[in-house]
Amino acid sequence: MPELPEVEVVRRGLANWVAGRTVADVQVLHPRAVRRQPAGAADFTARLTGTTLGTAQRRGKYLWVPLSGTGAGFSLIGHLGMSGQLLVQDPAVPDETHLRVRLRFADGGRELRFVDQRTFGGLAVEEAEEGDPEGTPVSIAHIARDPLDQRFDDGTFVAALRAKRTTVKRALLDQTLISGVGNIYADEALWRAKLHYDRPTATLTRPQAAALLAHARDVMTAALAVGGTSFDSLYVNVNGESGYFSRDLDAYGREHEPCRRCGTAIRRAAWMNRSSYFCPRCQRVPRDRSGG
Ligand SMILES: [Zn+2]
Repeated sequence: MPELPEVEVVRRGLANWVAGRTVADVQVLHPRAVRRQPAGAADFTARLTGTTLGTAQRRGKYLWVPLSGTGAGFSLIGHLGMSGQLLVQDPAVPDETHLRVRLRFADGGRELRFVDQRTFGGLAVEEAEEGDPEGTPVSIAHIARDPLDQRFDDGTFVAALRAKRTTVKRALLDQTLISGVGNIYADEALWRAKLHYDRPTATLTRPQAAALLAHARDVMTAALAVGGTSFDSLYVNVNGESGYFSRDLDAYGREHEPCRRCGTAIRRAAWMNRSSYFCPRCQRVPRDRSGG
């Protein structure tokens, strides 16, 4: 799954390349790519044709483009799934093998293509929250902002985190509390904060919770800076967890490798159908879990 920095790269690419352009023609080449459109592909096409795309927005890993003109009050949501890509392509470029949806624009310039090998992703036009200048789709309105969002409220988050009766990694992945922190960034932030993933949130002090948030923000900012090298690329794409940030990771994916702080071998533990990577010395198991 793409993490927040990768989705942000896509958002910036869309903001650069399609904002302000009017859709002339929509082609749905695979119905599965628009299966989230309740009234089907014809409805999807009708709602987009003739409308003007606004500036792409993001909340956590959710991405959308508010519509104006004939589409006012609605937004185009892009679900990238596991392998979805949004490409801005010259019309002369041959169709990609897994091209699912094509938007042509009235200016005759570069097309917007949704390419998805596994078709877990897709596009849909959805009603936006009434009066919301960002055009947030109704289905996304309950998702919390992410720590890189200027409107994220640190104090509210710290208080909500400490009030939750859960464990700290679960809380970091709880999209109603904070968004955009995936499995990788959660492990990295916990390592930096020297907190075990099963630490009960209620036992965190206010400074510990604030420090954890600061570490999560730092990790995501660093990842974004590295991913940002392709912002002006014509290819706006997402490659899941592959890559560019992996060499900078301190915990995630480093099983048996020495902790960069204390030299102890990093461990991997099964955790909610995923893995948690941690340093057993720097990130002690909470006392109530070890029988103490
Ligand atoms: Zn360590």
